[in-house]
Amino acid sequence: MNKLTIRDIDVGGKRVLVRADFNVPLDEASGAITDDSRIRATLPTIKYLIGRKARVILCSHLGRPGGRVVEKLRLAPVAQRLSELLGQKVELAPHFSIGPEVEKEAEGLKGGDVLLLENLRFQPEESENVPSFAKALARLADIYVNDAFGASHRAHASIVGVANYLPAVAGLLLEKEINVLEGILAKPARPFAELAGGAKVSDKIAVFENTLDKVDCLLIGGGMAATFLKAKSYEVGLSLVENDKLDFAAKLLKEAAERGVRLLLPVDVVIADIISAEARVKTVSVEEILPDWRIVDIGPRTINNFSEELRRCKTIFWNGPMGVYEIPKFAQGTEAVARLLASLEATTVVGGGSTAEVVAGMKLADKMTFVSTGGGASLRFLGGEKLPGVEVLLERKG
Ligand code: ADP
Ligand code: MG
Repeated sequence: MNKLTIRDIDVGGKRVLVRADFNVPLDEASGAITDDSRIRATLPTIKYLIGRKARVILCSHLGRPGGRVVEKLRLAPVAQRLSELLGQKVELAPHFSIGPEVEKEAEGLKGGDVLLLENLRFQPEESENVPSFAKALARLADIYVNDAFGASHRAHASIVGVANYLPAVAGLLLEKEINVLEGILAKPARPFAELAGGAKVSDKIAVFENTLDKVDCLLIGGGMAATFLKAKSYEVGLSLVENDKLDFAAKLLKEAAERGVRLLLPVDVVIADIISAEARVKTVSVEEILPDWRIVDIGPRTINNFSEELRRCKTIFWNGPMGVYEIPKFAQGTEAVARLLASLEATTVVGGGSTAEVVAGMKLADKMTFVSTGGGASLRFLGGEKLPGVEVLLERKG
């Protein structure tokens, strides 16, 4: 990465504003954090700063409050969990993420103290990247650190605006995310496979386009497989198909063949009459999909084919579940590939919100080389886009 990080500057005793991504999933009923991976992922940066007696001011968004205070989206549970993980008190700033009261608290911090600001998106100025808001955030600190890889594709005040007013460097998580993703694009150990799934082709077009000249094999499952199967003239019944992406799918199949990329589609699938736990279910070959049924998972022969291909590979990027994994009986394909990747020696990188959730839920995150905390951001990065939150950081010279 050609950007400065917290290791390149003197943070001792300084007030350091860290933009983190604490956008964690919450239990609908109790409001409890159901997966704290994103909080844990930021610990190296926070601990590094505490260790150097920086005065740490953390900020994040949580959910989509839409520019107003939403009680359920307060950051109190995050402050609580962080306190437990760090073994020290994390103060939650009062009411708003900026203002005189917060400034007073930030000023009063001692070396090694940690303060968490309230949900940035309680104020509309955050998403609108209003300069006065960015300036007010900047007033709290001497240095700005972006460790929110998962939000770095957004030109918001706390991601982009604030860098106009403070020296801006990368946190350790951001650095790691960029290094891993840059690494698999620049010099992957071969063979390099991309395993793609998830709901829609349209979300992933840029990734396919940007990586087709880099991968040795491309394996496609999940909902998006239906569009590829239809492009090959299979009957796909009521499966999720993007009819306006059939041309793209046909073009990708053709280009893959021309470039010698091995492209694997499902040869069998699990189909269901409705998408529900009560559905009737059949496993059929792709020639036998019933007109009023839909694809909900990859079948056992496909799992075998994919596994055999992936076992030969030295680098694997996986994005997108192989089926409607939210319903346990449609989760077999997704869980099988997750277990397989976890068992391999290969470099395994997982991206995408749902995919990361599956891996975390199965307690396999530690068995992967890297699970990106950035859903949309990792896909944009692999799609060749520059992330605004990374662009604004100070360049490494020479
Ligand atoms: P990620 O967040 O990892 O990038 P996506 O958002 O692209 O993944 O896709 C996740 C969604 O894809 C899940 O909600 C899952 O139910 C859905 N999905 C997977 N396979 C199918 C399918 N065959 N039909 C409909 N939806 C599917
Ligand atoms: Mg998703």
